[in-house]
Amino acid sequence: MSKKDYYDILGVSKDASESEIKKAYRKRAMKFHPDRNTDDPEAEQKFKEASEAYEVLSDSQKRQRYDQFGHQGVNGGFGGRGGAGFEDMGFEDIFSRFSDIFGGGDPFGGGQSRGRRSPGQPGSDMKLRIELNLEEIAFGTEKKLKVKKQIKCDACNGIGAETEDDFETCSTCNGMGQVRQVRKTMLGQMVNVQPCPECRGEGRIIKKKCSKCHGEGRYRGEETVKVRVPSGVSEGNYITMRGKGNAGKRGGEAGDLVVLIEEKEHEYFERDGNDIYYDLVLSVPDAILGTEVKVPTLKGQAKIKIEEGIQPGKLLRMKEKGIHGLKRSGIGDQYVRVNVYIPKNLTSEERKHIEALKESDHFEASNKEDDGKGFFSKIKDVFA
Ligand SMILES: [Zn+2]
Ligand SMILES: [Zn+2]
Repeated sequence: MSKKDYYDILGVSKDASESEIKKAYRKRAMKFHPDRNTDDPEAEQKFKEASEAYEVLSDSQKRQRYDQFGHQGVNGGFGGRGGAGFEDMGFEDIFSRFSDIFGGGDPFGGGQSRGRRSPGQPGSDMKLRIELNLEEIAFGTEKKLKVKKQIKCDACNGIGAETEDDFETCSTCNGMGQVRQVRKTMLGQMVNVQPCPECRGEGRIIKKKCSKCHGEGRYRGEETVKVRVPSGVSEGNYITMRGKGNAGKRGGEAGDLVVLIEEKEHEYFERDGNDIYYDLVLSVPDAILGTEVKVPTLKGQAKIKIEEGIQPGKLLRMKEKGIHGLKRSGIGDQYVRVNVYIPKNLTSEERKHIEALKESDHFEASNKEDDGKGFFSKIKDVFA
């Protein structure tokens, strides 16, 4: 594959100065940056080409070799990172490699994606718990949370200075945001790169601070955050809200807000996955004669029919009256567990009636129902 001339790629002449090359690259890199040209492979290709050209032409040794031997001189056999080419690199790698020339401001505007260079200092993540009842979990809900946190200053739009003109380039690092210390050791030169202590790595210093935030670009306040909770969540699940945590300093990227789900215990229902269980207590006559009762559901009351002669422990299934599962995992059922209340401390009148029934055939105890099946197998049928 024949390669394009590096000078042509950057649109500079063969005798261009270092700063002309830098300027030309900066212009192209910003124009073709993948963040500005999403899903445009041609732009990405151009971005990579420009970065590769800059890598070579900005290094006087490599440039000399390139001038002398062409692409062979810098891509073949000379090794080092520069020789590896850019075909397999992501733009983030390329960008971070040359981020020094972008120093100071954020050339691509305050994006939210991680790993991108932005001015200022990033805000921290926050964690918050919310308690949900079963009704909210069953159908999903939206919560408005009042969050006490660092908020981006509205007076200066987060930059920390009165206006965009109230900055000056940091003289300690010349706007690079980093300082290099070269030490001579027995093993040779050691280079130590650290964030500039003067500007804290930001590359610029505020001349006139915003009076509202005193140069921080943020202040403590309260913000209402809306959280959409999908149906079917469980205790311990969490929802990450990108950029809803603490605002960064002086335009730095905001942290995330992590919302942790806690499940409130329900007055009547027990949860088992997407199913719920309810304990129904019947009187002896109702269990014997059959009846219709109202039971609570996650959406108000519902009537269910009780067959005559129902046995304690029986499970009645109310189809799809349970929890709407997470990510289309289906809708659960509601189960009604039948209990029978046995009265104590009868009056002498009541006692007489019961004693009269004692001799009757139908009141004899049996471990079989009318159909001959045992009680226990009947309960198991429901689970099958
Ligand atoms: Zn500095
Ligand atoms: Zn401010």
